[in-house]
Amino acid sequence: MTRPVFRFAPSPNGELHLGHAFSALVNAGMAERTGGRLLLRIEDIDATRCTPDFEAGIHRDLAWLGVTFERPARRQSKHFDDYRAMLDRLIADDLVYPSFLSRGAVRAAIAEQEAAGKPWPRDPDGAPLHPPMERVLSHAERSRRIAAGEPFAWRLDVDKACDTVGRSLDWTEWTDERMAASQHETAAPQAWGDVIIARKDVPTSYHLSVVVDDALQGITHVVRGRDLFYATSIHRLLQELLGLPQPTYFHHRLILDAEGRKLSKSLRDTGLAALRGLGKTPADIRGMLGFS
Ligand code: GLU
Repeated sequence: MTRPVFRFAPSPNGELHLGHAFSALVNAGMAERTGGRLLLRIEDIDATRCTPDFEAGIHRDLAWLGVTFERPARRQSKHFDDYRAMLDRLIADDLVYPSFLSRGAVRAAIAEQEAAGKPWPRDPDGAPLHPPMERVLSHAERSRRIAAGEPFAWRLDVDKACDTVGRSLDWTEWTDERMAASQHETAAPQAWGDVIIARKDVPTSYHLSVVVDDALQGITHVVRGRDLFYATSIHRLLQELLGLPQPTYFHHRLILDAEGRKLSKSLRDTGLAALRGLGKTPADIRGMLGFS
């Protein structure tokens, strides 16, 4: 039997906190129990927010915590060609379109409809869906504006993408980290609208890189926080469109602060480096997170 392959995929745009430690430890525990491999991926496509210092901090904190990953880590910023190749396939298949709309124009379109008393649809994270009005721009018009140097992002025409797949998609979700049971989840990608596949500044986005990397790294088990549960719908759609293998998933509980909010990178008291500075040990961290 082939060995399961797990990954922990932090973004170096802040310090690791207890929520990251939990995710890394759940992955490590599952890899250990199944005799699987454990890979590290640095999700650093956003050059404006990711820094070498945060990246060094990730390695330092994980080593301190005692979680070991196969070396070397995959760094997304070194693999833009891989994402570009997949983006080119989506462009060739006419499943993505260039979107030139500025944030202000998008806000105005939404405000106009809401002022008319029509609620604007929201995605599972509560953000307004992108107005899909540029789906219908002619190819000549798109080429002209691109040639003129207008900034644009590539967006998925999610309705066309679903029609192309032609059937409903699902995935296998483990019910707990012991993988005692699993259930089928039905993907609902249209709930996200026309998501960004490639940003204005780089030939990729979170959604595209994550599915390409999970495939290229041979990830069989995607284990991550519950906050990404609904995004899995988009990932399943992209896997299907690009002919990529389908991993199984486990979306673990989130570590919340005293007020019941998701931990943020700015809460210094839950940062691993800050806790280390306060004299906490890796065993203390495991204890705080409920590991024995
Ligand atoms: N890089 C993402 C984050 O730090 C995680 C992506 C994933 O696990 O799919 O939230």
